[in-house]
Amino acid sequence: AKTNAALMARRRAALPTGLGQTYDVVAERAENAEVWDVEGKRYLDFGGGIAVLNTGHRHPKIVEAVKAQLDKVHHTCFQVLAYEPYIELAERLIAKTPGDFAKKAYFLSTGAEAVENAIKIARYATKRQAVIAFGGGFHGRTLLGMALTGKVAPYKAGFGPFPAEIYHAEYPNPLHGVSVEDSIKSLEHLFKYDVEADRVAAIIFEPVQGEGGFYVASKEFAVAIRQICDKHGIVMIADEVQTGAGRTGTWLACEQWGVAPDMVTMAKSMAGGFPISAVIGKAELMDKPLPGGLGGTYAGNPLACAAALAVLDVFEEEKLLDKSKAVGETLVQGLKGIAAKHKSIGDVRGLGAMVAVELFKNGDLHQPDADLTKRVCVEALKRGLVMLSCGTYANVLRILVPLTVPQAQLEEGLKILGEAFDAASA
Ligand code: PMP
Repeated sequence: AKTNAALMARRRAALPTGLGQTYDVVAERAENAEVWDVEGKRYLDFGGGIAVLNTGHRHPKIVEAVKAQLDKVHHTCFQVLAYEPYIELAERLIAKTPGDFAKKAYFLSTGAEAVENAIKIARYATKRQAVIAFGGGFHGRTLLGMALTGKVAPYKAGFGPFPAEIYHAEYPNPLHGVSVEDSIKSLEHLFKYDVEADRVAAIIFEPVQGEGGFYVASKEFAVAIRQICDKHGIVMIADEVQTGAGRTGTWLACEQWGVAPDMVTMAKSMAGGFPISAVIGKAELMDKPLPGGLGGTYAGNPLACAAALAVLDVFEEEKLLDKSKAVGETLVQGLKGIAAKHKSIGDVRGLGAMVAVELFKNGDLHQPDADLTKRVCVEALKRGLVMLSCGTYANVLRILVPLTVPQAQLEEGLKILGEAFDAASA
C-alpha cells in the first residue's frame, strides 16, 4: 500500500528543496472541506489550498461545468481564437467590481502574473516608472512579484537583482505600533527622500495582508491612499488575490472601503482551484497598451473560465457572501474561546471569513512565538486538521476554510484547534 513516508522520500529525491512542504501528507481525494490522504486518514481542510477553495474541494457545479467545457474546447489561445466563457467572465467580473467608471478585464494564469500585468498597464498608461508597495506585503514569486513583496527571507534573499524603481512604505499595523498616520507618513517620506510623486506609476497593496499576517487595512487607510493617488495621478491597485472571491464577506474586500481602486487583481478562489487570474480596471488605463502587449498562451484557459463562471453561480445560489460573514463570526467566537484559555493568543482578528490569531510568548506583544505556532500546526495535523501559518514573524495561525463547510465540521475543526493548543502548550 502507498504511504505518505514512501511518497515523501520520492518527493525529496526528485524535487528541489526550495519547494517547501508544510506537511508530509499526500492527498488522495477530497470533497468540500475534507481531504483523505493515501493512507486513508481524513483531515478537515482549514487552509483551502491557500485561499483557493472558498467553494470547497470539487464542488459538483464546478466539476460539472469543467466537464461540459472539456467536451467543447479546452484550448485555442484566446488571442488566436476567442471563446465565449472568457468574454462572459470578463463581463460578470466587471459588473461585480466597484468604481463608477467604465471598466475592462482580462485573464492570466497566476496571481503573480495578474500583479505583473497590473503594474505593466499602470506604467504604460502613466508613462511613469516607480511603484510603491508595502512592508509585509506579498505579491508573488516572479521577478517583479519578488521585488514588490515586502519580506526578505525566504522570498527575496539571494534571488536579486530586482527590477528597479520599487519602493516600500510601512503597512498600517496598530498591533505592532504602526498607525494609519505613521503609514501615510512613511509614504510621504518616500516622496521626500526617494522618489518624486509625479514619477510614481502605481501604489499597490492588499486590503488584508495575506502571507504577511492577516493584518486588515482600515477604510481610513484606503481613503487616504485614494486621496494621495488622486492628488498625484497615481494608479491605485488593490491586490485581491487572497482577499477576493468572497473571503472577506463581500465579493471584493475593497467594496467595504467606500472608495474604488483603479485596478484590482484576482486569482485563487475566483475559479475554485483552476488556474486563472484576473486584472480588472479602469477602461481608459486598460486600453492603453497596444495589441500584443498583454496576454499569454494559456492565459484565461477555457476550463478555468468555465470553473470561474460556475463559482459565480455557486456564490449566488448558495448565498456564500452571507455564509462568509457567518463563518467568520463562528470562527472569531470559537477562537476567542480558545484565547480565553491560552494567553499566548495576543490577538484574534479578521475580515469576514479571513480570520487569524497571533501568538506571543506569555501574551507579550514584543515576543512573537513562531515555535508555538509551528507546534500548534503539528498537533492539529495529528488530530486531522490542516492549519496554515503566516506572518512577518511566522507567529500567525490563519484560517481559510471553504465557505461551503458544514457547520458541524466548522465546530469540529475549532474543537481540534483548541485541543492542539492544549497539547502544544503543555
Ligand atoms: N498576491 C497575493 C496577495 C497573494 O496572496 C499571492 C499568493 N499567496 C500572490 C499575489 C501570488 O499568487 P500566485 O502564487 O498565484 O502567483
